[in-house]
Amino acid sequence: MSAIELNARASRDYTLHLSEAQGVLAQAAAQYAGADGVAARVTQASSLGAEDVIISHIINSLKLDIGIFVLETGRLHKQTLDLLDQFKADSRALVIVYKPVEEAVIQFVAKEGADAMYKSIDLRKACCGIRKMEPLERALKGKEAWITGLRREQSGARAEVPLVDVSDKRVKINPLSNWTWGDVWHYIKENKVAYNPLHDTFFPSIGCEPCTRAISMGEDFRSGRWWWEDEAAKECGLHVKHVDGSLSVSESVPVSALTTAKVSV
Ligand code: SF4
Repeated sequence: MSAIELNARASRDYTLHLSEAQGVLAQAAAQYAGADGVAARVTQASSLGAEDVIISHIINSLKLDIGIFVLETGRLHKQTLDLLDQFKADSRALVIVYKPVEEAVIQFVAKEGADAMYKSIDLRKACCGIRKMEPLERALKGKEAWITGLRREQSGARAEVPLVDVSDKRVKINPLSNWTWGDVWHYIKENKVAYNPLHDTFFPSIGCEPCTRAISMGEDFRSGRWWWEDEAAKECGLHVKHVDGSLSVSESVPVSALTTAKVSV
């Protein structure tokens, strides 16, 4: 049974969720628009997961001036790389692929091994640091806001994800924060959006190949990510905020705050 057959069930608030996502993306494109050959100051981070392909589809459908970037860690599944090729060819919006610094990867693998992530949380985070965090910094340089596919339903740690988050140094826009998994697949079905076929084999959340596995019915959406670690450690760092060295709490703000948020990059 495909992910569409299994999951495509629009929630009662689907129409509201869709217009909310379209609205916040259009507003972001207007507020952070580029000018005179300078790129927009907002960008979408895409892992090519189900949520991310929807956001890109909306950006392309509404012809919004928002670029998209993908972190190609060097450890992605073949299915993800194939989708990336198709996505780059089909996207109206500019798609930029960021890769890790080759020398850093070579040195890390030579010292710790190709599968160091299983040895300790520190080594796993070091691998994420080289393959994801450093390229992410490059991707976000000069940007005042970024767009992610975070949804409240994805995990307990994400239960408070706001539509627009101004609590960190860079505004984070989460257009699908209120969407259900059924909404996600309903949109994909209705709009015939190309998606990662791994979703058809019980991979709701897809990351690097060594760190992602299929889940069973009833398991948490992100339980297939870093499954050998405690729940509290299971973020790659992309969505962890640090204020004065400690974790900060997301602030929930209305869409209108997007126009008034003070931003320091
Ligand atoms: S998810 Fe796994 S393979 Fe990918 S960067 Fe992190 S530790 Fe490395």
